[in-house]
Amino acid sequence: MTTAPRRSGAEQRFPVVVVGAGPAGLTVGNILRAAGVDCLVLETETRESIERRPRAGVIEEWAVRGLERRGLARNLLERAQAHTECEFRFAGERYRFEYTGLTGRHHFFYPQQFLVTDLVREYADVRGGEIRFGVRDVRPHGLDSGRPSVSYVCPDSGERRTVQAGFVAGCDGARGATRAALPPGRVRVARHDYGVGWLALLAEAPPSADCVVFGMHPRGFAGHMARSPEVTRYYLQCPPGDDPENWPHERVWAELRERLGAAGAPPLQEGRLLEKRVLDMHGYVVEPMALGRLFLAGDAAHLTAPIAAKGLNLALHDAFLLGDGLVGHLTRGDDTGLAGYSAACLTRVWDYQEFSQWLAEMYHGTASGDPHRAGAALARLRRLFDSPAAAAAFAEQYLGARTTG
Ligand code: FAD
Repeated sequence: MTTAPRRSGAEQRFPVVVVGAGPAGLTVGNILRAAGVDCLVLETETRESIERRPRAGVIEEWAVRGLERRGLARNLLERAQAHTECEFRFAGERYRFEYTGLTGRHHFFYPQQFLVTDLVREYADVRGGEIRFGVRDVRPHGLDSGRPSVSYVCPDSGERRTVQAGFVAGCDGARGATRAALPPGRVRVARHDYGVGWLALLAEAPPSADCVVFGMHPRGFAGHMARSPEVTRYYLQCPPGDDPENWPHERVWAELRERLGAAGAPPLQEGRLLEKRVLDMHGYVVEPMALGRLFLAGDAAHLTAPIAAKGLNLALHDAFLLGDGLVGHLTRGDDTGLAGYSAACLTRVWDYQEFSQWLAEMYHGTASGDPHRAGAALARLRRLFDSPAAAAAFAEQYLGARTTG
């Protein structure tokens, strides 16, 4: 499906072609359209599919303010819930952690598919941006040449089409085409494998607690996150590459009861499992995040395992900087934003990667089978509750409150 068709033929040219209509690509597109810059967004899925895809939910306050400043947060501010505390369960006890009391800041909870719905509506229906859904086999060309282009197979005709681009914004997520098109040896990809999997579950059941709950248990980590009054996300640590079919309904709920069990904890509200998939916990960072006229943003440039709920926030941070940098170049001839883009993004990216590693050890150490790691993980947890300095440092990192966006 195509909205706002304005050109035809092989000579199509856009100042910016954005590959991928996720949070990063749609935010870049909206910033460009607000400044009157013409652009084209290419997306492999349908509009209905991207508006229904449940993934993240936790958005940091600086990211919400960044969306608000760009006129992109009206629905979010009306409908998002404020999260002010979380609960850790370990050694059979419950420990409440009130991070808003320590920082004056909170998390916004707004399902990613709602944000994507808002962003696509604003881009295509309000700001008149062009977007082509359902395209296939997207290929960037000539990225290093000063005259890049992007080709794709049109879903209606089956023909390959080519558009010329002043710049290409690679916002096509972890499995997209833009990162894969980078010439070998021109960028460094730093990878980290956590060696664990998480069984990601969506249950048709009301939340079982009034906040996010993290369970550290010798059998493995478990997490509880409300998604709506009717749907709750749960995570269960499992071997990497595990088959979701190894986790029938009864086994899932028995493990969740065991790993999230603690003195005085309310019983879990059980329900049908709507989604069950295994995520292998790993991360990567592409450096630099730009090559020639290609700029990567979001998961295309860096993956942060969902351990610390940072991926969506980093995607928005990149998109703000890339959108503003492109507008500076294209409307004022100011190159400072694009020249500093990669370095400015990577400061926050590496900060969040480090926090994810720190948190991963606290979550998984107890179940590592190594008594030294297990003891150290418990010490790390206890420090949060008996050292005000450790608690303040954790709250700052958890909320992404140290650096500003
Ligand atoms: P994406 O959202 O992946 O968007 C990329 C878009 O590009 C997609 O629409 C895709 O269809 C399209 N595309 C792919 N290939 C091509 C191609 N070749 N051509 C054109 N289009 C293409 N993050 C948080 O901050 N907080 C959380 O609580 C959180 N929870 C998560 C839970 C789960 C289960 C998962 C999987 C992730 C979670 N994340 C979380 C991470 C977050 O969802 C991602 O970091 C975020 O979606 C990245 O946005 P993006 O725009 O970079 O990429």
